Amino acid sequence: MSTEKIPYKIYLTEEELPRAWYNVRADMVNKPAPLLHPQTHQPMDLEGLSQVFCRELARQELDDTTPYVPIPQPVLDFYRMYRPSPLVRAYCLERYLDTPAHIYYKFEGSNTSGSHKLNSAIAQAYYAKEEGLIGVTTETGAGQWGTAMSMACAYLGLQCSVFMVKVSYEQKPFRREVMRTYGATVTPSPSMDTAVGRRINAQFPGTNGSLGCAISEAVEAARKPGYRYVLGSVLDQVLLHQTVIGLETKAALDKYHIRPDILIGCAGGGSNLGGLIAPFVGQKLRGEADMQILAVEPASCPSLTRGRFVYDYCDTGRVCPLQKMYTLGSDFMPSPNHAGGLRYHGMSRLVSQLYHDGLIQAAAVDQTSVFAAAVEFARVEGILPAPESGHAIRVAIDQALKCKQTGEEKNIVFSLSGTGYFDMAAYQRFNDGTMTDQIPTDEQIARSLAQVPVI
Ligand SMILES: *Cc1c(COP(=O)(O)O)cnc(C)c1O
Repeated sequence: MSTEKIPYKIYLTEEELPRAWYNVRADMVNKPAPLLHPQTHQPMDLEGLSQVFCRELARQELDDTTPYVPIPQPVLDFYRMYRPSPLVRAYCLERYLDTPAHIYYKFEGSNTSGSHKLNSAIAQAYYAKEEGLIGVTTETGAGQWGTAMSMACAYLGLQCSVFMVKVSYEQKPFRREVMRTYGATVTPSPSMDTAVGRRINAQFPGTNGSLGCAISEAVEAARKPGYRYVLGSVLDQVLLHQTVIGLETKAALDKYHIRPDILIGCAGGGSNLGGLIAPFVGQKLRGEADMQILAVEPASCPSLTRGRFVYDYCDTGRVCPLQKMYTLGSDFMPSPNHAGGLRYHGMSRLVSQLYHDGLIQAAAVDQTSVFAAAVEFARVEGILPAPESGHAIRVAIDQALKCKQTGEEKNIVFSLSGTGYFDMAAYQRFNDGTMTDQIPTDEQIARSLAQVPVI
């Protein structure tokens, strides 16, 4: 152990920014299963995937063998505007909890979009621009991805059309205005603008919408010349770009010879978690180090802890490729809980495979206990966390309290994926004491799982 005093914030210099993303699949023995065509159920090849995604992104989606993918210089230039992000030693939280554990968090909220999503947005916009496209279509749940994509598109001069889950569109009007300020068009989903939106509206009248619906609409809207669809999570290409989080975290920890014992991240589609853990999972896979890794999901949308590991549709409209993942069924409609970014029926196929193989563990936590942790964190560490990030905070605090009981001085590292300024309606509900936990029944989950295709 180093005797050097660890600063409150470990900053890397701009020169220490990672120059390549790390593709953990290259080190995985059991690779994530291939994506399948939604109709034929045949594995998707480069041609097929290039119909939906930019060619370079489709190539990244299929690449199981290249360990390091160079980050293009224009993407690095953009990263330099808000990265490297700090790794913070949560001294105040440790003191407050009176724990011998050392708690660190990687803070991804210090950009206007307020989350880690910008790390992949700029990469995806860059490849779209390189391909000569006019614009992109996408969906957004809580609004962070839509904002990130709007920022990236504004920077590179691309058009950006965002389908926003209706409940968020209504709950978060200012999120919408941030996107419009960056030049994007924003449509509440399900809308009447697409065939799939009209069908979902007919099937589920008055629906609040879901990420699964919005994805279907955005994919349909991308079927015009000069456009492609982009997705902010779930895909392996997104997890690849997000490894900049884990690579920076590892570089910062290495500077002070800190070996993490526990890594924690909230998991919606799996991108901030996947990005944080990738280099460490690589160490585990190569037998160089070991640590506990915890994916935290909301009890209201528990894909890892209560779902099944099967091929399923990535979207409600069943227009996207199928992937083998932990899923609650693509028809699963999570209650309108407030961690919008975690309301997805499935999980990244990469994170799913790691979980299936026992390389990571998962926990589901109640919304009220998440907000209790988020509020405690805000009061002692100053940062107002996104409700999504609050899930990681909850489990980090629980682990630190466990250390207090056992006297263990563990190093706990979690991903503080974003800030919560646009989630004050949820905080208000918590402050007023009117927040409830919305846990699906076994019957509800069984009903949506019954719709999963047999493959
Ligand atoms: C979108 C989002 C998440 C969930 O998405 P992942 O792909 O699982 O990371 C978590 N936290 C924040 C702040 C987000 O914006």
